[in-house]
Amino acid sequence: MLQLTHIEKTYTSGEVQLRALKDVNLDIRAGTMVALCGPSGSGKSTLLNICGLLDHDYSGEVCFAGEVLRKSHRQSMKIRRTQLGFVFQKFNLVPVMTAFENVAFPLLLNGMKEGEVRRRVMGMLDHVGLSQFSNYRPDRLSGGQQQRVAIARALVHQPKLVIADEPTASLDSVTAKQIIELMKNLGMEQKTAFIVASHDDRMTRHCDRVVELKDGVILQESALCIA
Ligand code: ADP
Ligand code: MG
Repeated sequence: MLQLTHIEKTYTSGEVQLRALKDVNLDIRAGTMVALCGPSGSGKSTLLNICGLLDHDYSGEVCFAGEVLRKSHRQSMKIRRTQLGFVFQKFNLVPVMTAFENVAFPLLLNGMKEGEVRRRVMGMLDHVGLSQFSNYRPDRLSGGQQQRVAIARALVHQPKLVIADEPTASLDSVTAKQIIELMKNLGMEQKTAFIVASHDDRMTRHCDRVVELKDGVILQESALCIA
């Protein structure tokens, strides 16, 4: 569903050049959960930004749903809005919006009618166990609750692929475990593929594949059995 071929990424600041990704090849199949591991600075976020069509400044080829991307912002924006979802370490909810409004946002962007938006958002909030908090702003929610809202937002428009950058890194271990299980279960229900950067063993255990990055190079790939 998402294929990266011979991806190279170099950051330039002044005279200094840093090769952040070196000949990265990756194939994420529909409905699978892929963990991206590796030490800090190994290039995980750089790779996720390319997978999420947020960064076009690379060489190599990105193919989404059988189509080679033209690095056009217009095309990327449309794919992001309709087919991708994002979860970040710091939740990244809009602080002035309620939980309901944060989750509704992707649907409104896609032009869905109000009644259908309400039905879908309340269904999703119920799924993540937060229906009674729909009118709360993020600052009144715990970290785990905020991440649940973020997961609801990432999945509400039934994207083909969710990109998660260290989604449990800001959470305590009990909450992290719940968040991992929630992502796994929702992903399986909706047949969504995930690529998740994580140091968390519990996360990688739930994944179908583990891809390890070091200094911008993919080291090894292990196919795990799904428990
Ligand atoms: P990770 O997410 O695995 O910690 P990153 O993708 O953030 O790794 O970073 C990979 C390398 O690229 C690091 O050496 C980092 O310092 C560098 N880097 C990341 N973002 C930038 C940037 N915007 N400008 C310059 N260098 C960057
Ligand atoms: Mg990172």
